[in-house]
Amino acid sequence: MSDPRTIVAVKGFRDVLPPESEGWRALEDAAAAVFSRYGFAEIRLPIVERTDLFARSIGETTDIVEKEMYSFLDRDETPLTLRPEATASVVRAYLESGLAQREPAARLYYRGPMFRRERPQRGRYRQFWQIGAEEFGRDDPLADAELLVMLERYLADVGARAVRLELNSVGDARCRPVYRERLREFGRAHLEGLCPDCHRRLDRNPLRILDCKVEECRDIVARAPVMLDSLCEPCRAHLDAVRTLLGQEAIEYVMNPRLVRGLDYYCRTAFEVVTDTLGAQNAIGGGGRYDGLVAALGGPDVPGIGFALGVERLAMVTGTAEARTAPPVVAVLPLESRAIASAFQLATRLRDHGFTVALEAPGRSLKALLRGADRRGARLALILGDAELQAGRATVRDLARHEDRPQAVAIDASGPDLARELAQLMDAAS
Ligand SMILES: [Zn+2]
Ligand SMILES: [Zn+2]
Repeated sequence: MSDPRTIVAVKGFRDVLPPESEGWRALEDAAAAVFSRYGFAEIRLPIVERTDLFARSIGETTDIVEKEMYSFLDRDETPLTLRPEATASVVRAYLESGLAQREPAARLYYRGPMFRRERPQRGRYRQFWQIGAEEFGRDDPLADAELLVMLERYLADVGARAVRLELNSVGDARCRPVYRERLREFGRAHLEGLCPDCHRRLDRNPLRILDCKVEECRDIVARAPVMLDSLCEPCRAHLDAVRTLLGQEAIEYVMNPRLVRGLDYYCRTAFEVVTDTLGAQNAIGGGGRYDGLVAALGGPDVPGIGFALGVERLAMVTGTAEARTAPPVVAVLPLESRAIASAFQLATRLRDHGFTVALEAPGRSLKALLRGADRRGARLALILGDAELQAGRATVRDLARHEDRPQAVAIDASGPDLARELAQLMDAAS
């Protein structure tokens, strides 16, 4: 029976509860561990930015900026937006903090929620989470290869299943305009089959017809010329060097000549992490080189490369949540109110010494208390009833074997003694 005044979450937004949240934390912890080995440090960013930032970085003709941003006017009429992605924010922070001048070669990673007002569908929410990394100040192929190996190691570390890395080069300011014209010509020759959005894209940004989601467009685009055939010599050499380094470390990937990043500042290396297990929305994440972005946002001419992974989708292809071994739990069971002080004392000491303790409320039967302890995954229970209080020792019940152990634990034992004793009992119980 629901209270008519119950307030529910906004459509497209949701809570992340245990054990799912535990799995997410494992994904974040693994990112911190793996990324730091490659010299990446965490940046924490605001969720709200000036709308201009995204209009300039993502481009006003993209679906994100045109249709999907959560934008609003602040009380002083400043147009603000809930960030739809974090790369633009990282670049803004990199410039605003002076890092671009002080420490141009910076490696930063982030995690947090992003916001897009899409139609809610399976595995997609209007608030979704990303883990991403950005590197500034390096335009050499070694930086690309390092980032890709780091990504591969991270995916392996979290146990991502049935995922593959797809790679492409999207050229640069020298060779892409030539390709863009070839693509525009191709598009004009197939105009009648393309959707109205693609008609507009042909004028403003023909590359974007390559990632149109309309099926008819996709069929036509499958026959379009590819960037790989139009690369200039330096772009070709860059790609070859990246591939050689990936080959050296036996990184598995497939070349996907249709993989594009529609925006002008993306160049050369582009990649995606895809899976076939999640239906049509097969990308778990992706990234690439964006040598023109820092300059486009008003900074110096500093190259950059990065990626972002969707946490929801990553969680779907990893076994992190199940694989995580729960810490051993001790249950402290006060049979009656008089045992509260002693139970609290035992529980606090054990927690101080690193144990996970389930402290039950008094006033229930031993059977009910034991059932509760079992539900919490406890391995040992310390029982405190009348007899125990009198003897000054808690009965130790092995919950797996359903029997009391001959040793009893002294209620007033010092913290270290108690912890040592419990650790021994725990070992014997496992
Ligand atoms: Zn289209
Ligand atoms: Zn080129």
